[in-house]
Amino acid sequence: MSDEEVTVKAEEVEDLSKQKPTRRIIRPSELPPRTVTLKRPDIIGRLVESKAKKQERYPVYSNWASMMGSPCIRELFHHRVNWKFREMPDPEKQFLFEGGAWIEDKAYRDLQDAGFRIEAQGARFEIKDRKENITGKIDMRLIWERLTIPVEVKGLQMWDAEKLNSVHDFWESSKPWIKKYPCQLLLYMFAHGSEWGFFYVVNKLTMFPNVIWVNLYDHLDYVTERLETAILVNKCIKNPKLLDKQPNKGFNTDPDYCKNCDYFAVCGPPEAYEGAAIENDPEILKLLDTRGANEKAHRAFEQADRILKPKIREREFRCGDWIVTGKKGSRPKMVAHETERNVTWTARIKRIE
Ligand code: SF4
Repeated sequence: MSDEEVTVKAEEVEDLSKQKPTRRIIRPSELPPRTVTLKRPDIIGRLVESKAKKQERYPVYSNWASMMGSPCIRELFHHRVNWKFREMPDPEKQFLFEGGAWIEDKAYRDLQDAGFRIEAQGARFEIKDRKENITGKIDMRLIWERLTIPVEVKGLQMWDAEKLNSVHDFWESSKPWIKKYPCQLLLYMFAHGSEWGFFYVVNKLTMFPNVIWVNLYDHLDYVTERLETAILVNKCIKNPKLLDKQPNKGFNTDPDYCKNCDYFAVCGPPEAYEGAAIENDPEILKLLDTRGANEKAHRAFEQADRILKPKIREREFRCGDWIVTGKKGSRPKMVAHETERNVTWTARIKRIE
């Protein structure tokens, strides 16, 4: 009997979902018939959709310690005043960010398993003695020799994690978000009078951590300058004209930093500004608009293509209105200083006119 003959529609198959799993080994002849017409759920699509739904912007009532490492006063101002215009990460990136919480939990458990006393996961703090209005949270605290040592956990890509061994390495990073990390930890240390703190940096490839110790007194000038900046941000919120009186009118001088800024659109750095030259070419504008209008469809195309390609590799057939063909090829690959060739398959998918 061929597969075809035993094939039945999913609706016709007995509902096995309530059946208890058996511990007995089942013989192939006892298996229910194949259900090739099963309507498979779009699991990835639904996950992405659910992440997109959860993305929300919240009003910002204080200077966030995690933002205070920004070198741009306008960014700090927009974060408070124009939070509604903040660019949100793609749903795909949301998965990456949420992975950070998992790494933090793992660090907490790993440190406890190693016999360390860890407390106050996610402890909040505020600094407002001189109207700084700074709030934030620290990942956890380690109790050691009667000292309370703040710990900030960061999960980073291998190539970023490997470059970090001191606070200065954070500041010299090419990634704007990594540059901001020391400020958050130092502000917490300042708020709680903790001389020592450390970063627990997890390499996301190996999951192996690195510990980077920080002494508050080595960076007291930096902390003082950040506190003054927070006070200035509060003054600018009351009187936005103050921004124009800042050096370079408060605009950042690093084009790369601006390109990654969540407030680029609302800020609109000046025309002459290298990082944000204004382009008036109508063709480019039309292409950008077309690209934007098709962004969602493009993602759906890529997702289907990714699943489809392995299924049609080295196959030629007709399916519905589609003709699928392909071409075999090869490309070199280096294996232990020897060159081997990888067999490739370039699929061609055409709709029948
Ligand atoms: S776009 Fe540049 S100048 Fe404007 S807020 Fe962002 S970093 Fe600052």
